[in-house]
Amino acid sequence: MAKVSNPNPCLSCGACCAFFRVSFHWTETSVESHGVPIALTKQISPYMNAMNGTDQVKPNCVALKGTVGESTSCGIYEYRPNCCRIFKASFEDGSRNESCDKARLSKGLKPLQTSDWLS
Ligand code: SF4
Ligand code: SF4
Repeated sequence: MAKVSNPNPCLSCGACCAFFRVSFHWTETSVESHGVPIALTKQISPYMNAMNGTDQVKPNCVALKGTVGESTSCGIYEYRPNCCRIFKASFEDGSRNESCDKARLSKGLKPLQTSDWLS
């Protein structure tokens, strides 16, 4: 029987968007880049910006929609910074991402397994 893909587990997670400081070179806010909305960011150094809400003791990205661990999405998906684009969920590409596991554990969610992608 053919393998059937489960729904993307990130859609019921969002933990990484409420755990890490999401910072990137300021040029990512330019229209020549993919244009992270600058109003949703703050300058944290001469060359770096961070998503608002992530540069604090309890990070929570301003662009995160929904409830962590239930149903979430990125409100600026088409314009999200590169660090978000390259962040892989554990076993999304076949290997574990300890940072994904760490973020999930901080929200009381079990680390993903291969079975979370295929049934
Ligand atoms: S912590 Fe992992 S599973 Fe959760 S949204 Fe981020 S990448 Fe996806
Ligand atoms: S920009 Fe989107 S993907 Fe990146 S941390 Fe914020 S909500 Fe998550």
